[in-house]
Amino acid sequence: MKISEVHTHLLDYKLETAFESAATRFTRRQHVLVEIICDDGTTGWGECLGPVQPNAAIVKAYAPYLIGRNPLDTEVLWQGLYNLLRDQGQRGLTMTALSGIDVALWDIKGQHFGVPVSVLLGGRVRDTVKAYATGSFRRDGVDRISDNAEECAAHVAAGFHAVKIKIGFGVEEDLAVIKAVREAIGTHTRLMIDANHGYSIQEAITLGNRAAEFDIDWFEEPVIPEQLDAYRRVRAGQPIPVAGGETWHGRFAFREPLETGCIDIAQPDLCGTGGFSEMRRVVDMAALHSVRVVPHVWGTAVQIAASLQFVSALLPDPPRPDPIEPIFEFDRTHNPFRQAIVTHPIEHENGVIAIPNKPGLGIEINRNALAEFAMGEPE
Ligand SMILES: [Mg+2]
Repeated sequence: MKISEVHTHLLDYKLETAFESAATRFTRRQHVLVEIICDDGTTGWGECLGPVQPNAAIVKAYAPYLIGRNPLDTEVLWQGLYNLLRDQGQRGLTMTALSGIDVALWDIKGQHFGVPVSVLLGGRVRDTVKAYATGSFRRDGVDRISDNAEECAAHVAAGFHAVKIKIGFGVEEDLAVIKAVREAIGTHTRLMIDANHGYSIQEAITLGNRAAEFDIDWFEEPVIPEQLDAYRRVRAGQPIPVAGGETWHGRFAFREPLETGCIDIAQPDLCGTGGFSEMRRVVDMAALHSVRVVPHVWGTAVQIAASLQFVSALLPDPPRPDPIEPIFEFDRTHNPFRQAIVTHPIEHENGVIAIPNKPGLGIEINRNALAEFAMGEPE
């Protein structure tokens, strides 16, 4: 079996209502898929985290290296691609593009051997996973406090055991949002806060100390991800466990945060940190430092399916009769193509997701939806 074609699919949808985190304003939904076709007709799918055109350009730059190669040689190909752009790469787009390719190669490998990727990774520890609802961005044209509270109450009514809300817009307003959400969801629902690196060190420490009374499970990306000393100061200066890692791509990016105690919870993104091949190494490194892993998930059903395969095989740490189970990030913001691009949408039922058990990623792509949401010419 040889790789014969590498394609990207750029998806786009203009939102009726824009929303924003502390880092990004979303006026459109855009994601990029990678399709790798082999000479026997086997087709694998992957997805790259981040901006679509730059990722597609780098996938295109990697493609000549892949043509004619054996897709089952996932480690050989991973290192070959990494070496191609190492001198100007190492993290960022070179890694997110490589991630999409690696995910597609593992999809091919699973289909070739007739097993889900989770079996290739060592076995299915679990067939279901509890989801947590990600949402509560700042939406245009509404009162943020009541909007976030109403949204989170709806997630709880839908069965979610945990919700994550966006902060990083200003300490006083953020505290009002956290208080309103806690009141709306009651005392039994877990609550996480994500600042998308919008705070200074002092703001993050102040927020963390004052928000702790609302029983927060983690404080995500309090400060900019390059400032590892700031992470350590925030972790030492307030009581809420610190989470981060969605922008740390690969084992070298995770080394210092793990070795120097920046985080309590690591959030590598399968479609950003280097695909299945590198994600395994990052998770092993996290285990060395007793850091819990909760993968970051922000994409279409392709990324969701891939991340579910990975989580299915995630070993309990520490192993015990009733271990700490991983939880799964489930984006609840508006995106009409997120699930439309697969023939069998991956949905939760009462806050629990069944992990596909068909070969590869366990999904089938709906090409009509790819055509419907294909990015057009720039406006
Ligand atoms: Mg985040």
